Amino acid sequence: MTLAPTTILYEGKAKQVYATADADWVVLRFKDDATAFNGVKKASIGDKGAINCRISAHLLTLVAEAGVPTAFAKVLNGRDQLFRRVEIVPVEVVVRNVVAGGFAKKLGRAEGERLARPIVEHFYKSDALNDPQINEDAAIVMGWASAWELACMRERALQVNDVLKAFWDARGIDLIDFKLEFGRAGGAILLADEITPDGSRLWERGTGRHLDKDVFRRDLGDLGDTYRELYQRVFGTEYRAE
Ligand code: 5GP
Repeated sequence: MTLAPTTILYEGKAKQVYATADADWVVLRFKDDATAFNGVKKASIGDKGAINCRISAHLLTLVAEAGVPTAFAKVLNGRDQLFRRVEIVPVEVVVRNVVAGGFAKKLGRAEGERLARPIVEHFYKSDALNDPQINEDAAIVMGWASAWELACMRERALQVNDVLKAFWDARGIDLIDFKLEFGRAGGAILLADEITPDGSRLWERGTGRHLDKDVFRRDLGDLGDTYRELYQRVFGTEYRAE
């Protein structure tokens, strides 16, 4: 496949989606923009787009090898990836292994408490509403996803959790939680978005140091340095711009 981006279909906070000459394929372009609190806090972080592009391709490939169908096809260049065109399911799936973030806040618990088993949560994908948490009943009754799709997404999210937990574990990093998005294509449910430190919490084992976008959300340091360090841990080599 040699499909080039043509017109822009959608501009998100961290990525752009382009059409290609083939209606079945789109190009995802990773931006250097970092945002938090639904776009209220913004910055441009050098190398972020290219690092996330490489990390996401690596993790999506691992997940696909473990049997989870994904919309990811291949990396086109330093920032662009070819993806199967899907209809995004407007239900974000979060998997949690350790109490943190929104879960800690809403339940008044300290961050860091290990959960006895992973918890799967659902959020309605809506910037206007700040992605409110919903349950599976609400998703079905409101017509956002069918019971079969929700069961499929839950099973796949837990499978992804197993793969990612083992991956980060081998690099001295605890996978605390992460968010996934799925899409529909040809009657199938595919993992349809990036897997990056933008949408995951990754804590250094032993120190609890944040190696993810919370560094930006919480002003804990330089996000570019953090992502370059993470790149080194993933690939075993220093990040160099192309
Ligand atoms: P929380 O619900 O604790 O804010 O987030 C749980 C996990 O999902 C975190 O790893 C967080 O990075 C990810 N997450 C939830 N919503 C979003 C979102 O809108 N954008 C991104 N990039 N990640 C999200």
